[in-house]
Amino acid sequence: MKLASRMGKLPPIPTLAMNTKAAELREQGVDVISFAAGEPDFDTPDHIKEAAAKALREGKTKYTPVSGVLPLRKAICGWVAENKGVAYEPDEVVVTVGGKQSLFNALHVLLDEGDEIVIPAPIWVAYEPVATLTGAKVVAVETSEDNGFKMTREQLAAAITPRTKIVVINSPCNPSGCVYTRAEIEGIAEEVLAHPQAMVLSDEIYGKILYDGEEHVSIASLSPEMKARTLLLDGFSKTYAMTGWRMGYTCASREVVKAMDTLQGQSTSNATTFAQWGGIAALEGPHDFLNEWIAEYDRRRQAIVEGMNAIDGLSVVMPKGAFYVFPRISDLFGRHGPGGELKNSVDVGIYFLEQAQCAAVPGAGFGDDRFIRFSYATSLENVKEGIERLRAAVSQLG
Ligand code: PMP
Ligand code: GLU
Repeated sequence: MKLASRMGKLPPIPTLAMNTKAAELREQGVDVISFAAGEPDFDTPDHIKEAAAKALREGKTKYTPVSGVLPLRKAICGWVAENKGVAYEPDEVVVTVGGKQSLFNALHVLLDEGDEIVIPAPIWVAYEPVATLTGAKVVAVETSEDNGFKMTREQLAAAITPRTKIVVINSPCNPSGCVYTRAEIEGIAEEVLAHPQAMVLSDEIYGKILYDGEEHVSIASLSPEMKARTLLLDGFSKTYAMTGWRMGYTCASREVVKAMDTLQGQSTSNATTFAQWGGIAALEGPHDFLNEWIAEYDRRRQAIVEGMNAIDGLSVVMPKGAFYVFPRISDLFGRHGPGGELKNSVDVGIYFLEQAQCAAVPGAGFGDDRFIRFSYATSLENVKEGIERLRAAVSQLG
């Protein structure tokens, strides 16, 4: 049997692979601390669970419209208007099976063979493989630590061409935690508007997880012209600790939303019905838990940045949002552990796992091999213990 050639273009997703590896080791009795998972360690708030349970009891167990029930799409419109200052109608919203399906379907309905997509690197692991799967050409823009891992307007101007169909922005960013300022978003918008065929895919899934008084600016909020050019991607996984519920959405023009609905109708159909009712409770219910979660993430952020920067060979930029740090580990290249020379981020990832029992995701999958990603969506105690283990492991390198 020969698999379809398209599978040759698609690597396994490294974030979940590392998480699974950490879980397997733990089952074997190894005391692994996982910094791999990009998911909140908090539980979904009770009022959200209760709304889904109630929906189940009421028999909300059948198919819904592919794009989701109207009350949920209305709730999304209300939430997006209030939190991002952009007004959408319910028929400009498609609810998807996780933000991941939004990304997959958005890229598939827009990109043709030969089209170009501009992706700032580093960025979340799914963007490049899924874009490549469509046959489009990926134009990666390498950002720099000195600019906080943000794509500048000048870099975009150099990368964008008459064939550019999509420009991706992800603020706050996974894996770097960078947050674009209003002025930076405005600069990107001006560049995009100068190219009539270009759209923006704005991944705003970490938009509520911000520190140091940072502001989240949705590019769609800048003007009606920019709104028409934007696919705004968001979801429930991060804000409400609902990763396992598989609920995300895209807000975009009716034409794009209709195409995404058509594609989804041929694959998964609607997001799980009773989960959608939980989603309504999430958006319309109390949000006070979020302040506590962010205060807790912030304590871990400070501890992990301070701890890592005190380890010789690691250096990390203070993230402004999300719950990741992306330390530079390239200073460890050329040094030796029991498995031989460390040559890249995967070697360092394996070394950290085997010698420090700390699981993290190598930077290669995010488009920059000189770094590695740690999620601090784990207890402060684990953060402190992990830092001690890393310090000891790094000091043992030859
Ligand atoms: N975008 C980014 C940047 C992410 O980190 C994630 C996390 N997996 C997603 C989208 C999609 O998440 P989900 O499918 O759980 O909604
Ligand atoms: N986005 C998360 C991460 O980056 C979840 C894992 C995934 O969906 O790949 O780890």
